[in-house]
Order: sequence, then structure tokens, then C-alpha cells
Amino acid sequence: MFCPKCGTMQDDKAQFCMSCGTNIANTQQSSQQSFQQSFQQDYQQTAQPGNGAATVSLICGIVGLFFFGLILGIIAIIQGNSARKQGYVGAKATIGIVLGILDVVFGVVGVLFMIAIIGAISQY
Ligand SMILES: [Zn+2]
Repeated sequence: MFCPKCGTMQDDKAQFCMSCGTNIANTQQSSQQSFQQSFQQDYQQTAQPGNGAATVSLICGIVGLFFFGLILGIIAIIQGNSARKQGYVGAKATIGIVLGILDVVFGVVGVLFMIAIIGAISQY
């Protein structure tokens, strides 16, 4: 854990910052509250424009980690971008795009790996 005021690393059990004396126990609570608030905001944002595309992006991004990464990854990136263009501001579209990029990277690595294995087998 780090002090929110001066950035000094702190013991997790510490109540006050050893460097500047800020009450860390309180700020820890408030940061938890703000996290809950942003989560609630995200939940309330389900009615906002582009939410459908953002949801598709997120689902494709997650499923693409396991199956058809190249195809689903590209869909996730396109849908995430289109959600943003429609005015979507939640985290879903961003997560979808990031997962989509990972899907494509894993997909390419997987295909190269398969080609390498097939190449190695066909040499015998
Ligand atoms: Zn401090």
C-alpha cells in the first residue's frame, strides 16, 4: 500500500503515513467507497448509447481468450471502438478492446506455434 498524499510505501496495517502523517486508515476506506461508487456508476450506465456494442466487445474479448482468438479479438476491437464512437464511456468497451488485442496476439502466437509443430513433424 502507498500513501495517497506523498506516495511513500506503507505497512498494510499502518494507520498513519510514516513520512507525512496522513491518516491512511481513513483514505483506504474512502478509496474503497469511490471504487464502489464507480462500480455503481458503471452499472447505471447500462442505458447509455453504445452499451450493446460494448457488451458484444467484452463478451467476444473474453470468449476469444479460449476460442477463435483471431476472429473474436478483431470483433471485440471493432465493437469496442464503435461503442466509444457512439458515446460509451464505461470500462466495458476499454476492457473489450484490451482483451481483443490480447486475443489477436494469442491467436497469432497460436497459429505460429501450430505452423512450427507441423513443420517439425513434416521433417521426419
Ligand atoms: Zn505520506
